Amino acid sequence: MHLAKRLEKIPPYLFAEINRKREKLVAEGVDIINMAVGDPDKPTPAHILQVMHEAIDDAATHNYPPYEGMQEFRQAAAKWMERRFGVTDLNPDTEVVASIGSKEAIHNTFLAFVEAGDYTLIPDPGYPVYRTSTIFADGVPFTMPLKPENQFLPDLNAIPEEIAQKAKLLWINYPNNPTGGVATLEFFTELVDFCKQYNILLCHDNAYSEMAYNGYKPPSVLQVPGAKDIAIEFHSLSKSYNMTGWRVGFVAGNALGIQGLRQVKTNVDSGVFKAIQKAAIAAYNTTEAELQTLMSVYQHRRDTIVQGLQSLGWPIQPPKATLYVWVPVPSGYTSAEFVNLLLDKCGIMVAPGSGYGASGEGFFRIALTISEERMQEAIGRMKDAGIHY
Ligand SMILES: *Cc1c(COP(=O)(O)O)cnc(C)c1O
Repeated sequence: MHLAKRLEKIPPYLFAEINRKREKLVAEGVDIINMAVGDPDKPTPAHILQVMHEAIDDAATHNYPPYEGMQEFRQAAAKWMERRFGVTDLNPDTEVVASIGSKEAIHNTFLAFVEAGDYTLIPDPGYPVYRTSTIFADGVPFTMPLKPENQFLPDLNAIPEEIAQKAKLLWINYPNNPTGGVATLEFFTELVDFCKQYNILLCHDNAYSEMAYNGYKPPSVLQVPGAKDIAIEFHSLSKSYNMTGWRVGFVAGNALGIQGLRQVKTNVDSGVFKAIQKAAIAAYNTTEAELQTLMSVYQHRRDTIVQGLQSLGWPIQPPKATLYVWVPVPSGYTSAEFVNLLLDKCGIMVAPGSGYGASGEGFFRIALTISEERMQEAIGRMKDAGIHY
């Protein structure tokens, strides 16, 4: 018995080595401050739990759900796209499909559109699933470097003509994990034009659309006139509403994109638990005031960690959005070396930028998923250890 070759091609799990080290330190009694993982630490809001409690007692939620999502869920998602982004023309029956969280839908999009040898255009650094799912589909990932001097946007002129001709999917994710970069509607318009020129399905992973600060409201790619001819957008409740464990989101946009995704999903999964879909509808009806209360927690943490790092000499500015601060590594270290130093000397865990792709080298990622007190403790430990930029 042996594993399929495709598994050998999958890069090692980002946190595998760091986790081994952490387990060893924890066994030695070290108090680890973990800012590595982007998993919200606060509970799901009460109004969502309330709906779930009622829905779970209703036997009508207990059988198989429709594969594509309940009609009332797809309608609520389309309504939310209208309220939130002014995208008024989504047909819930043909242009929206429920997902078991974005990760599943991202993977299945590769199965629906990528054939052996096809190129995919993916951001580097980027969410690791774009690369691994390309490999699962026997495609060839072509990376688009996200550099600070380009505000972490890909340079479309740097994509060789023959690669663009052979590409099936182009992935973007703004607000961006891991860089915290954001994109304008003008940039989305350029992307739509580029993808139309080469007939590439534009896939926008908008997992952080609600996680923005100081009044900033990130746009949807579907706001670009004509975007629906070529683009689909992935939304998830996971991060915005502290619902990573619930596994629910949706994909909206181009009808053929949605049809392909539905066809794969109908054959590999059996939909989202109906009670969870009902709770998700409640999440999409969250008031703006409530959302702001959730986001203010992260905004305060962001300011605390950024000010702390600035006090140690780091030349960084607070990100406009996301759950992350993308921080340059002091000179003389690789990302991995510096991350290991923080763990060994300070018991602090952060994510090495190189784990998100070669262009992430020289950075590390802090997740805003611990309390301000713990962040201050982390900064104090770094100061005591003589660590600075
Ligand atoms: C967290 C994350 C996701 C996955 O979210 P789920 O809906 O929980 O699967 C997708 N894309 C990016 C960029 C993420 O950071």
